[in-house]
Amino acid sequence: MQIIYIREDKFQYDIHSLFKAFYPQEEARVLIGEKGDNPDKEKDISAQDEISFIDVNKSKNELKKEIYLLLSEKTGKVLPWGDLTGIRPTRIAMNLIDEGMSDDEIAEYMKGTYLVSDEKTALAIDIARREKEILKEIDYENGYSLYLGIPFCPTTCLYCSFTSYPIGAYKNLVDDYISCLKKEIDYVAEAFAGRTLDTVYIGGGTPTTLEPEQIRRLIGYMRDKLDMSGVKEFTVESGRPDSITRQKLRAMKEMGVTRISVNPQTMSDETLRIIGRQHTVAQLMDAFKMAREEGFDNINMDIILGLPGEGSEDVQHTIDEIKKLSPDDLTVHSLAIKRGSRLFEAIRERELKGELKVTMLESMNNTEEMMEIAQRGAKEMGLEPYYLYRQKNISGNFENTGYARPGKAGIYNILINEEVQSIVALGAGTVTKRVYNEGGRIERCDNVKDVKLYMDNIEEMIERKRKLFL
Ligand code: SF4
Repeated sequence: MQIIYIREDKFQYDIHSLFKAFYPQEEARVLIGEKGDNPDKEKDISAQDEISFIDVNKSKNELKKEIYLLLSEKTGKVLPWGDLTGIRPTRIAMNLIDEGMSDDEIAEYMKGTYLVSDEKTALAIDIARREKEILKEIDYENGYSLYLGIPFCPTTCLYCSFTSYPIGAYKNLVDDYISCLKKEIDYVAEAFAGRTLDTVYIGGGTPTTLEPEQIRRLIGYMRDKLDMSGVKEFTVESGRPDSITRQKLRAMKEMGVTRISVNPQTMSDETLRIIGRQHTVAQLMDAFKMAREEGFDNINMDIILGLPGEGSEDVQHTIDEIKKLSPDDLTVHSLAIKRGSRLFEAIRERELKGELKVTMLESMNNTEEMMEIAQRGAKEMGLEPYYLYRQKNISGNFENTGYARPGKAGIYNILINEEVQSIVALGAGTVTKRVYNEGGRIERCDNVKDVKLYMDNIEEMIERKRKLFL
């Protein structure tokens, strides 16, 4: 546990994020005042490993730089993104491009202000320029994008942080769930009439837990109700290979889906078993080949770096196997497994029983080397980086990066990341964002996560959107 004391209630969130970037596995608490001033908050802290006192009487950037240098000296770590927390690096680069700065000037600014490494600075600028090019045909003002969430999966992966229910136990609810989505589609048809629908993304969960007939019914309804003539990309996440069948692929293709995602996460059967994915590498390969046979020419694959027990050789193996399939898009995620999470506890239990060969809890982290292997692999596959985002407390303070073949980049991924266009989100656990054109102000409204509550309160979910888009 790291406790940081600050003099006034300022920049708490930023200070906390920076500490977590250096100590991803540890808890950190930022308290106002001196030691002893917060008896309520301090009483449950048994071991105070560290106490720092920070004077916040400075600008945010100055303060973060000072804390960064202090922690860097203390831990011996240099973070690739420097003290940049809470701001999207590509957004900074994009804004500076809009201001007319050259790449050299942007690089100088990012390195000087946030201590970002040369390599990451170049990556952010490269991606920002590519994003601008890809988005140039998107009408932010009159256009919108649509997200539909299907919160069911074949089984729940141990590391899952999404809204997900095992399909086996929820099968009887799916038709009613689709009926609720249809009601939300009716609202969209009415509220967004005359506006251009630019991209559609069906995610989850695992949308391919729906039966072929359900896929046809849902997308067919959407096609009947909404003007889809301006849609530039229609993605359906088909993440879990154990949910994919030829009939489902056929149904998606017939209904005009242009992009799917078939996700290995790793090409090691042993790791898949440990993280509770319950499918094999062979199943993944079969599903991918089937998707190609059914005519999908834009297939994304997701992989995760930092999985339990995996080192650089395992990442290299995953990349080598993926290369054989040659996807059009590759998304590289960094995983940070927190103490107390389901995956952490499951691994600890199995280690204690002697079922796992090594002390995996010690090795769950991605590294610069793994990031480089993935980056090099993507390049060798002809894929270019086109979006990146950083999660809070991400392992090693790295990032998630999307790579794609020219012309195959996921437009929706950029839109949701850069928050430049309104996205209407339907289904349990989804968040709708309204982006105002003046000043880029953003307002959100969410649908409840619990699938039954969502269905019971569908009219209220619609009402929330109605108010947001008044
Ligand atoms: S497939 Fe994705 S959404 Fe479903 S349980 Fe696994 S991690 Fe969660």
